[in-house]
Amino acid sequence: MNRKQNIIKTAINIQAINNDLTAIGVMDLDGLKKTVSDAYDAFPANFFHTFAVKANALVKVLTPLREYGMGAEVASPGELLIALTAGFSSQNIIFDSPAKTIQDLTTCIKNGIALNIDNLQELERIDALMLEFPDSKSVIGFRVNPQIGAGKIGSTSTATATSKFGYALNDNNNRNDLIAIYKKRPWLKSIHTHTGSQGCELTLMAHGINIITELAEEINAEIGSQQITRIDIGGGLPVNFSSEVIKPSFKDYADLLKAEVPLLFTGKYQVKTEFGRAIVAKNGVIITRVEYTKNSGGRHIATTHAGAQILTRTAFLPKSWPIRTTGYTAEGIEKTPQNSAVVTTDVAGPCCFAGDLICSNQQLPKLERNDYVMVHDTGGYYFTNHFDYNSLPRVAVYTVNGPDDELTMQCIRAQESLADVLSKM
Ligand SMILES: *Cc1c(COP(=O)(O)O)cnc(C)c1O
Repeated sequence: MNRKQNIIKTAINIQAINNDLTAIGVMDLDGLKKTVSDAYDAFPANFFHTFAVKANALVKVLTPLREYGMGAEVASPGELLIALTAGFSSQNIIFDSPAKTIQDLTTCIKNGIALNIDNLQELERIDALMLEFPDSKSVIGFRVNPQIGAGKIGSTSTATATSKFGYALNDNNNRNDLIAIYKKRPWLKSIHTHTGSQGCELTLMAHGINIITELAEEINAEIGSQQITRIDIGGGLPVNFSSEVIKPSFKDYADLLKAEVPLLFTGKYQVKTEFGRAIVAKNGVIITRVEYTKNSGGRHIATTHAGAQILTRTAFLPKSWPIRTTGYTAEGIEKTPQNSAVVTTDVAGPCCFAGDLICSNQQLPKLERNDYVMVHDTGGYYFTNHFDYNSLPRVAVYTVNGPDDELTMQCIRAQESLADVLSKM
């Protein structure tokens, strides 16, 4: 039996899905550990990998990620608190956000948390704070937008000419201005770019990283010493949602970067990464139950409890975020073309709008009432990122670990009852 089959069986055995609770998220901690070690194995020792907390902001997932050797990249005071609660030390946290308040900036500078400056107005605030806290241990960089264009998904492309993120390198005289900015501020020791997430080709990411690496070299040459010691190359390694295959791998990415930006592999710079989706997506699944089935206009429709509230991107932008499902019987036996008729199927969610579908027009072994549906590759940006929180209480989250035939499953976040939700309103 494969691991996912075992996860379903274990979830059934412990009655993780019952009448009150009709969808759960599951994170595989052994899988996470392997993914982090794959990342470290692919890159040399001058690379330090931080995890983009927005992808899965659960303390009980972040704590093992820290133990496996990752730092944390955070983008809000809430994420910072979550990362600190998960035990990350200040020097292993990077704060990125385009909207940092004075309080956010002061917290970082006072506590030695690294940060990347988004814009010139933020720079003014940091200038003032550095006068107040001249001995700050914060490693401070500028987020640079190399303006190299979009990948396949507009909403996750952050290096377009008009992106809201970072300092637009090619506008007006910005390149020279930035060099002058670094020259005047010996505490600017880092430089940052993040080209985008899912949908950006590796070559586009490498191109953006090449541009900021050359810029770092130019700034250091202009200053006459190596003031910039850290290059933060962001995250964005895409995930294959169409099968179990991990493609591209961290090794694929490292090989391409090594060919395109060899300087990063010489040890001259400390290199930080900020992977999110590539760390967690394939180590998490959603399991939900088929409540009803029907036929409408020749389409077999299986209504489940996992929809836009936890599969938000897929429900609203199905073409950009297609996702795979596997059916299991109530006893946990995988449904295959050998044991079930294949029919044209929509797997639907519980929300009251027509687009609330996990997938549509798929040829799937026929789902029946009380079957389970596993939604694959949902360890990042899905069940941890709720939408419509009030009307649909949170989905419970479990971790699994241990060998395939002896999985241990533990609830790390309980479902909220409607009473819990009401008490907060
Ligand atoms: C979202 C984000 C990441 C992580 O992106 P993934 O696609 O999940 O790897 C990294 N850095 C920054 C600045 C981000 O905004």
